[in-house]
Amino acid sequence: MGGKKIGVDLGGTVIKMGIVEEGSVSEEMVFDTPVSEGYGAVLDCIAEGLGKLLAHCPEADCIGMGVPGLIDSRQGTVCYSNNLGWENVSFVQDMEKKLSMEQRAVKVKIANDAQCAALGEALYGAGRGYGRMAMFTIGTGVGGGFIRDGKPESDRYGSMAYIFGHEALESKGRMCNCGRQGCLEAYASAEAVKKRSVSLYETPQSAKEIFEKAREGDVRAQCLVEELLEYLSRGAVNISNILRPEVIVIGGGVSASADLILPRLQEELKKGVYGYAYAPVTAVCAELKNQAGTVGAAYL
Ligand SMILES: [Zn+2]
Repeated sequence: MGGKKIGVDLGGTVIKMGIVEEGSVSEEMVFDTPVSEGYGAVLDCIAEGLGKLLAHCPEADCIGMGVPGLIDSRQGTVCYSNNLGWENVSFVQDMEKKLSMEQRAVKVKIANDAQCAALGEALYGAGRGYGRMAMFTIGTGVGGGFIRDGKPESDRYGSMAYIFGHEALESKGRMCNCGRQGCLEAYASAEAVKKRSVSLYETPQSAKEIFEKAREGDVRAQCLVEELLEYLSRGAVNISNILRPEVIVIGGGVSASADLILPRLQEELKKGVYGYAYAPVTAVCAELKNQAGTVGAAYL
């Protein structure tokens, strides 16, 4: 796994990319994702950023990219991405064509973005040394990844995505961005916390602000954090009973508030996981911070 590689983390809000060597990122670049300008504009933005990285990294002949949504890694297509508003696009083919015209001929590989973050953590972060690792990435939405023995699954459905964020937890629950009701993402994402804050504060508060206030003893903020933890725990218990991970890694912006999240999550896992004494699962926070996706993508 030595040598310099290039990884791209294409998100619904920002695109991150950089040169990755032994799990560390250099020459990192971050762009706003021009989602509203359409598919072509996003491709243009990625190609422009890659021009600079390719110049710094002449040995790179393959670029890995994490993309949110259901991804068919073998066909190189984005089947469905509600964040980007794409359906059934030949992303790899279009990206390779664009790069060969504007930069130089390189291969492109894609996988689900949270799956890439999980791979990054499995190889160089909090998941090192574990055979079975599940990851929740909590940001605008809730992403999921599952890595076994340091490798993402390669069959068509395994490579598509683990959609932990859309576990249905309430039959008549809140509306989710995906159009369904009661999904984990509608309760345990940074966006959900921000939306809920409107009912308790005069102006919307970011999840980061809510966690800070909760730590300072603000009861309203503590209620919102409590709600996030209740649903996150329920979601993590379900995933543990189904996939039997040895470790659950919590990533995304909220992982900066590990002190408020991990003790409670661990306690709920102990109570909720079937046969916990025989198959324990440890909750930890991501180590690669917001670079996990870029790192993992580089090692696709
Ligand atoms: Zn949903």
